[in-house]
Amino acid sequence: MEPEITSTETENIETINAEVVAPAIEEELHRHECGVCGYIYEPSVGDAKRNIPAGTAFESISADWRCPVCNTKKKAFSDIGVAAKPSGFTENLGYGFGVNVLTPGQKNLLIFGSLALAVAFFISLYALD
Ligand SMILES: [Zn+2]
Repeated sequence: MEPEITSTETENIETINAEVVAPAIEEELHRHECGVCGYIYEPSVGDAKRNIPAGTAFESISADWRCPVCNTKKKAFSDIGVAAKPSGFTENLGYGFGVNVLTPGQKNLLIFGSLALAVAFFISLYALD
């Protein structure tokens, strides 16, 4: 016999789903690249050197703002659109030959396993004599 789902249980499920479906809204501000040195103004980062707080749109920066790297005028910057990917740590897990996704136990196995193989290899060299 199937267990009956009470009204309180379904309410809980809906609340959990709502939290998962609604992530933090990323502001899609355009990045701008310096035409002289290639410096990229990242709106999500801002420009600490010239006291531009994170989240400032390039358009909102005062006209006398200059490239923090080469001091070129704001006019020399060109709109390169929004970032292809929001910067985050989750994407980084896919890099580094997948080692980052291994548990510490698996990492130890990998490290000591290859060490043991190397030792066995050197011992076999002596056995050849
Ligand atoms: Zn520049």
